Amino acid sequence: MKIVCIGRNYLDHIKELDNSPQKEIIFFLKPETAIPIKGQPFFLPDFSQHIEHEIELILKINKAGKFIQEKYAKKYYNEISVGIDFTARDIQEKMKKKGLPWEIAKCFDGSAVVGKFIPISDLNKNNLNFSLKKNGNTLQKGNSKEMIHNFDKIISFVSKFITLKKGDLIFTGTPSGVSTVKKNDLLEGFIEEEKLFQIKVV
Ligand code: MG
Repeated sequence: MKIVCIGRNYLDHIKELDNSPQKEIIFFLKPETAIPIKGQPFFLPDFSQHIEHEIELILKINKAGKFIQEKYAKKYYNEISVGIDFTARDIQEKMKKKGLPWEIAKCFDGSAVVGKFIPISDLNKNNLNFSLKKNGNTLQKGNSKEMIHNFDKIISFVSKFITLKKGDLIFTGTPSGVSTVKKNDLLEGFIEEEKLFQIKVV
């Protein structure tokens, strides 16, 4: 099982990080070990002083596929959730400046929080509100209609390079509002009004 993460998919977040929008889809991978063990908190790693939360809609792939055409992509997922793409922003900035890959800022243990999955339908998939609360305050809010590259485009693009398999997860990018997490923070993720995860930072 693998986790594919899309970068720079919401314009407001691209602006807040001073990045530039890309025509092509950007993705990177996290290993299975990035998912926190069930019931465990998020352990702040000692190699970073600046971990940020990125709330993202997550698709779960329901069958294997390669070279999936955009028009058939919707047959490859029927469940969605939200989760956090935890990012060591200090390390990412350092690597970016050097022009080096920033995988180590993204792939570490515990860096991929995954919420409970709910059914997705053709009716609602292009207009889903999602949000993140930190200590009870809503800091990030997004809607799937604001994505630069929609779900079907993402699946088609990724499957040109990597065979997608049942159970793979696709993190689809974060809207603006990312912030640093600190010890004792409580993070909660929602689609519409439904809470799909909560995790404590220790
Ligand atoms: Mg992200």
